[in-house]
Amino acid sequence: MTKIHGWATHGPKQKLEQFTYDAGPLGSEEVEVAVEYCGICYSDIAMINDEWGWSQYPFIPGHEVVGRIVALGDYSKGKGLRTGQRVGVGWNAGSCMHCHECMTGNNNLCPRVEPTIVGRHGGFADRIRAHWAWTVPLPDRLDISSAGPLLCGGVTVFSPLVTCGIQSTDHIGVLGVGGLGHMALKFARAWGCEVTAFTSHQSKADEAQGFGAHHVVLSHDRDALEKISSSLDLLIMTANVPQDWQTLLKTLKPRGRLHILGVVTEPIPIIAIDLILGHKCISGSPVGSPTMMATMMEFVARTGIAPQVEHFPMSQVNQALEYLRSGKARYRVVLDADFA
Ligand SMILES: [Zn+2]
Ligand SMILES: [Zn+2]
Repeated sequence: MTKIHGWATHGPKQKLEQFTYDAGPLGSEEVEVAVEYCGICYSDIAMINDEWGWSQYPFIPGHEVVGRIVALGDYSKGKGLRTGQRVGVGWNAGSCMHCHECMTGNNNLCPRVEPTIVGRHGGFADRIRAHWAWTVPLPDRLDISSAGPLLCGGVTVFSPLVTCGIQSTDHIGVLGVGGLGHMALKFARAWGCEVTAFTSHQSKADEAQGFGAHHVVLSHDRDALEKISSSLDLLIMTANVPQDWQTLLKTLKPRGRLHILGVVTEPIPIIAIDLILGHKCISGSPVGSPTMMATMMEFVARTGIAPQVEHFPMSQVNQALEYLRSGKARYRVVLDADFA
């Protein structure tokens, strides 16, 4: 039995309060992790507000967990994990482990994938539990204090570089310089690509170049977009607001791809001929598999890439959430666990 102490909301849009729950016996395939850091993601805010209709209260958010293993269920022993090891847990904490997707390493596409904060408590807490396969070992040389956001936002933007077969000779566009976009710029630059940032804020142009962009264009400047027509192999869309889709498609080279990661809630109107003539495509993807997370962590440790984060003690989680909601965060917020 483990009493887990965390910060829970008891209803939509309510402040988080201290909350303790009995986690029961550790499942044989589970791993228990003592939380050191937990990033805050916009999905946490969506779940606090019940924007997707999935929230059950009381509920502890948090799905960008960095910590150390404190207990291994019986079947989790012998899986390459050990007590004291530093690990990460991201958006998902489990999957069926026997479907085609799980068996081919695409566990993030499992129909029975278990998100860390849907129907279970997350990482704004002193401990968290996850399936052994989703408890990702972190390389020793990683900067762990900033690693949390890699586990959800980071792997979401890293994954398309692998799955879309991006080469260092390719030209990548990243639309949106925010929590996801700033990491996408860093990854694309370290991948060796020519990188163009698209932002709606002139004020972010210098920062985008600091993150690795060779070029910056204003996403609402049609003339600027026309000038870079037929230049991109891949345009990664990290913003969640509607765009001038027809003009964006023109920035793609023949056989180019517009890849959507931002949760745009309105339908995307596309004229078929804009795809057909240039053999272009539009696609999307969710967070990555555990293998993708481990691959990204190796790349990050080798290249020294780190998300740009600001820290709050976990006891100030409500202030941290307010700060994030205000749009002032540059660019992700990490909570430092400070339970007595
Ligand atoms: Zn997230
Ligand atoms: Zn599965």
